[in-house]
Amino acid sequence: MKKIVIIGGGFAGLNAAKFFGNAEGIRVTLIDGRNYHLFQPLLYQVAMAALSPAEIASPIRSILSHYSNIEVKQGYVREIDKAKNIITTEMHEYTFDYLILACGAQHSYFGNKKWEQHAPGLKTIEQATEIRRRVLSSFEKAEIEKDRNKQKKYLTFVIVGGGPTGVELAGAIGEMSRFTLAKDFREIDPKLTRIILVERGPRTLCSL
Ligand SMILES: Cc1cc2nc3c(=O)[nH]c(=O)nc-3n(C[C@H](O)[C@H](O)[C@H](O)COP(=O)(O)OP(=O)(O)OC[C@H]3O[C@@H](n4cnc5c(N)ncnc54)[C@H](O)[C@@H]3O)c2cc1C
Repeated sequence: MKKIVIIGGGFAGLNAAKFFGNAEGIRVTLIDGRNYHLFQPLLYQVAMAALSPAEIASPIRSILSHYSNIEVKQGYVREIDKAKNIITTEMHEYTFDYLILACGAQHSYFGNKKWEQHAPGLKTIEQATEIRRRVLSSFEKAEIEKDRNKQKKYLTFVIVGGGPTGVELAGAIGEMSRFTLAKDFREIDPKLTRIILVERGPRTLCSL
């Protein structure tokens, strides 16, 4: 019996696990720091309050429950010992014959890590709900502000990075201000909303 350990239950890890699902002579252990698979492409909809977190998160256990040779463990992998074929989480050690790393990617602030406290990235539910909180509370402040110039300040949003996430987010804030704002907030003129998308490359969506 060969033991395969997969770290990460994102698209890559899940597909790798399914590939070996119910295969003879193979046991798979999928380990993820969280117990749900996150559908990242719709995170911006959570950030803009169009979807709730539960709509883009599904338990990894249920996704893989019909594969008898796959077990799912929650744990954050801290260490990999290549010589001994052991990985260590905060709770446990696992041995393996083959290891698949599917840990995903992290956002980059291009050397400006200190920006993170002012502008969270958009890779996790926590970050999406934090963006949602900040945007909605800015709308609320604009609603009670009588000074039009100050109102404008609360309704100005700057997004740094004109890749797919930045462009999607800019579009979603635009839609939100035109539809939600116009309907639910009585004191705000949606036309005051400004969305500034900053991109250092020659155009937006450079990577596509
Ligand atoms: C806002 C946004 C919009 C996007 N839109 C699109 C789109 O429209 N089309 C498209 O094709 N792609 C899109 N993408 C990209 C796509 O979502 C990613 O390429 C994809 O999710 C990457 O999958 P992955 O399995 O490599 O990593 P992830 O989905 O990031 O999964 C990695 C997993 O590993 C786990 N993990 C990480 N480190 C550890 C550790 N040390 N121990 C245990 N577990 C760990 C994490 O908890 C996570 O569950 C978008 C991404 C974002 C953020």
